[in-house]
Amino acid sequence: MKHCIACGKLLPEQSLFELTSAPASAQDIPDAKEVQQDEGVTLHLRQCGGCGLVQFDCEPVSYYRDVIRAGGGSSTMRELRTSQYRHLIETYHLEGKTFFEAGCGRGEFLKFLQEFPVEIYGMEHKADLVETAQAEGLHVWREFPEREDQRFGHSPEASMLQESGWSVPEKPFDVFLSFNFLEHQPRPDVMLKAIWNNLAEDGMGLVTVPSLEYILEKESYYELIRDHIAYYTFDTLRALLNHCGFEVLEEEMINRDTLSMVVRKTAMPETDADVSAAGSVQSGTPSGATIIAPLTEGYKIVTGEVRALTDRLVREGKRLAMWGASHQGFTLASTSELGEHLAYIIDSAPFKQGRFAPASHVPIVAPDHYFEDPVDAVLIVAPGYTDEIAGIIKTKFGEKVETMTLRTNRIEHL
Ligand SMILES: [Zn+2]
Repeated sequence: MKHCIACGKLLPEQSLFELTSAPASAQDIPDAKEVQQDEGVTLHLRQCGGCGLVQFDCEPVSYYRDVIRAGGGSSTMRELRTSQYRHLIETYHLEGKTFFEAGCGRGEFLKFLQEFPVEIYGMEHKADLVETAQAEGLHVWREFPEREDQRFGHSPEASMLQESGWSVPEKPFDVFLSFNFLEHQPRPDVMLKAIWNNLAEDGMGLVTVPSLEYILEKESYYELIRDHIAYYTFDTLRALLNHCGFEVLEEEMINRDTLSMVVRKTAMPETDADVSAAGSVQSGTPSGATIIAPLTEGYKIVTGEVRALTDRLVREGKRLAMWGASHQGFTLASTSELGEHLAYIIDSAPFKQGRFAPASHVPIVAPDHYFEDPVDAVLIVAPGYTDEIAGIIKTKFGEKVETMTLRTNRIEHL
């Protein structure tokens, strides 16, 4: 029996949704040698009866402490983060305050904060990302919140910073930032309580996570990936934040698919208080099985769509490729028949090329591979970049390539 990662209550025995042949990881993309050992895993999604959090009951991926961001520097992200920062600083008069990001990667989002009159710090676990951030002049040090009582900036790596002419402030931070990091955490409560302990009285925070509501609305079961151990909704994220001593001042959906909350530090609730007081599944809220029904339905519809497409292409003697070595593409390829029918997966990221999709083992190639080994149809699975990629296909490969995308539960022609 497993316990809830957020409130510690025993998880129900019954799994709400089972994903078989799923990739074991979205980031460990096997090379030619590793692919021989790689195999899919079965993931069970369960809902806590105490706090309501939907979660996988498996071990987290080995690299959950690291913040690996693809496309973090895109203009869409720049605009989004800048408008969030502006709103936060202007609304709550945070000029001159000390901000820190817990899990800042190479500082992609901290850079956008530099145009505001605030002090900027960041913590990151992955050493090479810390180095890159420091080389760009950002005040980033290597640390991860492992314990609630951890005092940030006192790790050996942080102490060494004094030589480089700056150090982590002695006084508590005023504002914390956490961008799509909590959903990777096997102990989100420990992380948030550690942050709480390093914040000033009346300290504030901005937290974002992918939205389960969005996945359910689109019936996009292929968004599920082991890297994301938890699937938050407005209710369950708010309950967790309250449980960890934060009051939610604002909450909204941003960028279509992401929950965003502005919080303020309050008194920490009594420890071991009745779990239900920390935000139980309210009466009247549908039970887990009902909540998750769109995943089962989405799985049926999406795998049916994939089968209809691949059957038709086989009949017509045509070849298919997918564009997007994304976690959605990986899950889709290995949990439907798609993987067996793909000639290859196209991706523009050089570090993915020459490797293989986890679980489905479809080779990943550069866009120019098309000219050596053309296909008749391309299915784009790269949320947020669909239109841009469709444009590239039309100009580079020509109009005769059948271009499609999957961004809901249906395959659309573009
Ligand atoms: Zn729970």
